[in-house]
Amino acid sequence: MTLRDADFDVVRDRAVAKLQALVRIPTVSHRDPTLVDTDAFDAFVVELAAQFPLLHERLDLTRIHTHGLLFHWRGRADDRPVVLMAHLDVVPVEGEWRHPPFDGVIEDGVLWGRGTLDDKGCLAGICEAVERLLEQDLTPAQDIWLSFGCDEEVFGQAAPQAVAELVRRGVRPWFVLDEGGAIAYDAFPGVNPPIGVIGVTEKGVTSLELTVEGRGGHASTPAKMGPTARIARAIMRLEKSPFPGRRPHRPSS
Ligand SMILES: [Zn+2]
Repeated sequence: MTLRDADFDVVRDRAVAKLQALVRIPTVSHRDPTLVDTDAFDAFVVELAAQFPLLHERLDLTRIHTHGLLFHWRGRADDRPVVLMAHLDVVPVEGEWRHPPFDGVIEDGVLWGRGTLDDKGCLAGICEAVERLLEQDLTPAQDIWLSFGCDEEVFGQAAPQAVAELVRRGVRPWFVLDEGGAIAYDAFPGVNPPIGVIGVTEKGVTSLELTVEGRGGHASTPAKMGPTARIARAIMRLEKSPFPGRRPHRPSS
């Protein structure tokens, strides 16, 4: 499908307005579940249905964990299923903002707000693509699953539970696309144009708790390699020995 210039403006403005509506809902994740504003997440799920009515009418929805969403768009064949992923939560607001983080202000053609890039832009993009194809009565060649997590920013339960649900249904994805890099400027020496970064792997995270014990003493007679210095040394040793990087590999079966 090609779009004439006039159509492009209409299509873009419609998609931007939908993203704007989603950015305005403060779906902030916290590690402590009691700090999560579940009303905001409820409102987000309702707003998503309002913005993408055909998607919600024609795809099967399974709720995952608290507010995770797993949509199934049946294709003409059920082999080679595709999974498109995004997440609807955002990290808490910190620092000074040029525009309020949940107002969805557009200035000079740029939409400002927490989550526009990470990751409501992907979410709205996926949903709008599906919505437009449904408007044209398209049936995909293969099954498509949309898996939207609600606690990605705190390493939560929605994604593993979505995987468990797919396993339970015997779905073995042929292709999975999750959020990736952004459009990066001045990212590599010698490359001037902006680069669309495609992430093929992701750095993992390890949390460690270090404890050091030592004998007491007095500041007038400081001990060599006291507990503070030893823990600093331990941190530096960790810093110097990261896990080796590796490329993703194709599973053998
Ligand atoms: Zn993200």
